Amino acid sequence: MKEPHCKSLSRKMSDYIDGSLDPKTLAKIKSHFKDCRPCVAFFKTLQKTVGALGALKSAATLPRKAQGGLREKLKSLSHGN
Ligand SMILES: [Zn+2]
Repeated sequence: MKEPHCKSLSRKMSDYIDGSLDPKTLAKIKSHFKDCRPCVAFFKTLQKTVGALGALKSAATLPRKAQGGLREKLKSLSHGN
């Protein structure tokens, strides 16, 4: 990680992993990954760490995806009536 924005992007990577990142920053990180191998390596390590933590966290909170699915389900139920 030698480029100056590597450091700032690395701070956003945990948001990337839990899906709370805005699409603009997401696209920025994705395109950065194409020409920055150290960031990809860092991201993979982070993903493993967060994945391990996420297993603990999911006991208390639903993953974002599941929450969205639930909301859709509720919406379709209310439309059905
Ligand atoms: Zn980088």
